[in-house]
Amino acid sequence: MNKEYLLDLANKYGGPLYVYDTNIIASQYKRITDAFEKVEKLQLNYAVKALSNVNILRFFKNIGAGLDTVSIQEVSLALSVGVAPEKIIYTPNGVSLEEIENVAKKGVQINIDNLSILELFGQKHPEIPVCIRINPHIMAGGNSKISVGHIDSKFGISVHQVPHIKRVVENTGMHINGIHMHTGSDILDIDTFLRATEILFDVAKKFKTIDFIDFGSGFKVPYKEGDISTDIEQLGLQLTERFNAFCKDFGKKITLMFEPGKFLVSKAGYFLAKVNVVKQTTSTVFASIDSGFNHLIRPMMYDSYHHITNISNPNGRDRYYSVVGYICETDTFGSNRRISEISEGDILCFENAGAYCFSMASNYNSRYRPAEVMIYNNDDYLIRERETFEDLIKNQKIIEF
Ligand SMILES: *Cc1c(COP(=O)(O)O)cnc(C)c1O
Repeated sequence: MNKEYLLDLANKYGGPLYVYDTNIIASQYKRITDAFEKVEKLQLNYAVKALSNVNILRFFKNIGAGLDTVSIQEVSLALSVGVAPEKIIYTPNGVSLEEIENVAKKGVQINIDNLSILELFGQKHPEIPVCIRINPHIMAGGNSKISVGHIDSKFGISVHQVPHIKRVVENTGMHINGIHMHTGSDILDIDTFLRATEILFDVAKKFKTIDFIDFGSGFKVPYKEGDISTDIEQLGLQLTERFNAFCKDFGKKITLMFEPGKFLVSKAGYFLAKVNVVKQTTSTVFASIDSGFNHLIRPMMYDSYHHITNISNPNGRDRYYSVVGYICETDTFGSNRRISEISEGDILCFENAGAYCFSMASNYNSRYRPAEVMIYNNDDYLIRERETFEDLIKNQKIIEF
């Protein structure tokens, strides 16, 4: 996005600030629908946990997406903006039977990822259709925290336990309407992903009652120059052919689903923060910003790279900086970064700040969470106010001493 415009927004709304460009979200969405245009029934469910502002959810609803949710609170958010329950899928991990029942009552598609809950749910509610999350034991992801399909992962029911699933289904008379996998974020190559889909097709053909197969997500986007990204167009070509052949063999046109988060919103987001201090030590120049991992934790939690530019001085002489936060422990956004010369008061822009950035923000160090702005139809809108002191103490009770 245009740097002057971002700078204007930082001045207009104050910092730190998240900015989301809906044009980019729409074009990423279109890339997937275009890549799979030869699939007759396609449904994309945006993964709410990546960025859950209600205006983002409403935007997705308007462009025709469904929503993928992982908690009953996300389900409530989705319903509150008018998304139809049948366009919501609920894919939790390790939640109680009670929560799953409460979500099912709302008419939302549930997805069960363990045998004990599957059996309990099937015994109590054989009439409610259930999707099953399979773990294909394919390691597709990047960082170990986000790669969830490998052998000792806690997610899904092992593909080796399919006979057990069949037994539960027969004994309870429950109705299985979908098969699902999610191999984790940051798929490095589509061949690995396609191998996982083969395993899923194999499982799917054993469940004659299914109406859909959900291949999850994990589509990778480039964070820095030279980064690999998932070749969605190539995946579309290859998987479409395979999926359509499957439907033919299966004797029914079923729906192909995906549930991308990062791919849809990551590069639509920018995080803007001001430089408080430039500190020259004997070895390093630190640029300390008025933010920290309370606002953007991905670099510290996942070692993820976010490109940083100085939008106040875009054409200065490049120098090397460590960009750090104000949290009272080490919180480095990037070390040894080449950035156009920074002065105190400059605004730095962090790219790829749409996914898992605001949604992971906290009040650590009793700081307020940032404001959020949405760019829509060439105009900017405040979609979340910066927190205030009242927010910090809102739920705290004073006791008498
Ligand atoms: C987090 C999550 C997603 C989204 O993953 P991305 O890497 O953001 O695309 C999809 N499905 C499930 C079940 C998830 O937990």
